[in-house]
Amino acid sequence: MTSMLLRINYPEMALDRYASLLPPELLHELTTLAQELKGRRFVHANSTAAGGGVAEILQSLVPLMNSLGVATERVVVSPTEPRFFQITKRIHNLLQGAEGSLSPEELEVYFRCIGEVAEDIQERALAADVWFLHDPQLLPLASLLPKQVAELRYWVCHIDLTAPNPQVLDALAPLTGHYDGLVFSLPDFVPPGLNGHPPVSIVPPSIDPLTAKNTPLSRVEAQQIVAAMGIDPARPLITQVSRFDYWKDPWGVIDAYRQARRSAPGLQLALLGLSQAADDPEALDVLNSVREHAAGDPDIHTYFYPVDLPDSIDRIVNAFQTASLVVMQKSTREGFGLTVAEAMWKGRAVIGGNVGGIRSQIEDGVNGYLVDSPEECGRRIVELLQNPDLRESIGQAARERVRQQFLLPRLALDYLRAARAGLAQLPPRYTNGANGANGVNGANGTNGHHPTAFDQLEQLHIPAPQANPV
Ligand code: UDP
Repeated sequence: MTSMLLRINYPEMALDRYASLLPPELLHELTTLAQELKGRRFVHANSTAAGGGVAEILQSLVPLMNSLGVATERVVVSPTEPRFFQITKRIHNLLQGAEGSLSPEELEVYFRCIGEVAEDIQERALAADVWFLHDPQLLPLASLLPKQVAELRYWVCHIDLTAPNPQVLDALAPLTGHYDGLVFSLPDFVPPGLNGHPPVSIVPPSIDPLTAKNTPLSRVEAQQIVAAMGIDPARPLITQVSRFDYWKDPWGVIDAYRQARRSAPGLQLALLGLSQAADDPEALDVLNSVREHAAGDPDIHTYFYPVDLPDSIDRIVNAFQTASLVVMQKSTREGFGLTVAEAMWKGRAVIGGNVGGIRSQIEDGVNGYLVDSPEECGRRIVELLQNPDLRESIGQAARERVRQQFLLPRLALDYLRAARAGLAQLPPRYTNGANGANGVNGANGTNGHHPTAFDQLEQLHIPAPQANPV
């Protein structure tokens, strides 16, 4: 069988680099809990190595967990059947409320592909104390993989489930019963009818303040980068950073820009979608439709193909968020929206769609604005463009909001809390891990190498992250 499992290796990172950015009590609780869970092996699995919010989170979370002494693997699962990702993207859309239904044949392909993944995991004898399986792509896995007594499996759902397509929810919800715990980003996303089994944790995502995407870039440097991307730095710029995706409403962003431009001649709009996810096959169609909607306006800049770039994608995203007077995330559904926290962290005034995870980040009128239509978005853009003091005060409140609630160590703490609660439910003989103090897969709880079955997977080595000089 060609391998469907890829292991991602990260360079070590130093935990103390986060210390100055965090409330001290959070850091204390995190290190104490990590110490308690040392010797356990954790795995995070999802279906794309790069592109989209989940990959973004895991690329920082996994090294942080390891630096805390909690042995953590990252595995990318990509079934070889070409239709798999088309079907799972449809499932994603239907769960976020799109109309339509899944055919029995589509469900058959979905289950068959994940069944092959389950076989692969068994053949390779991959074992861990705690599995976090991310998003609907992997949802059937717990039902298809025989459960080891001492193993905990969590399903982490990052999508907006406020108004799911009922047929698809009914077909898939029973699969959650095979998990030891479920993780949702917001209480609003918990499907009714779970009745407390399995237990639910609410864990909003967060951003890594230490990456090249989120460490400060000077305004001059940011302007140089956006200028190299074709923006005129002498004229005002507004931006949305997003995959080209139906739910991100790039058409509404263009309408809002057009309205605002009537009061702000010379305004430029950037739609930055350079990082597409391997598990998202729809982006090109959305891009073509958006370009048609832009109707050749030379001040609407769409970015899609990551070729001939003047810098890394992370620094380009950073530069656009830094150089823009207003940042938008006008989604009509949004599980969380890391791009919102990223721009807020840079002290930008963000206008977000009044939906899902954006509502959990922006307090309307306090640290950003929530809007229900392109017209409202256009009005807020004008208000912010005309009032630098308002931009400044909103931006400062936004940065503080992210510092308090949406930085990576808080996310690590929430995952560890969920795992501790599950481990406490295991029979007493497993409370120190199935193999005595070393966990089911022999994690030794140090940063030193300890051979495991995961070493046999095909490896992808990620270079050390490049932070900007502070
Ligand atoms: N992103 C990026 N380059 C792009 C567009 C997006 O690096 O050109 C990143 C963005 O900065 C964010 C992530 O992709 O970190 C998107 O996460 P979000 O939660 O906003 O949305 P998702 O794609 O998961 O729906």
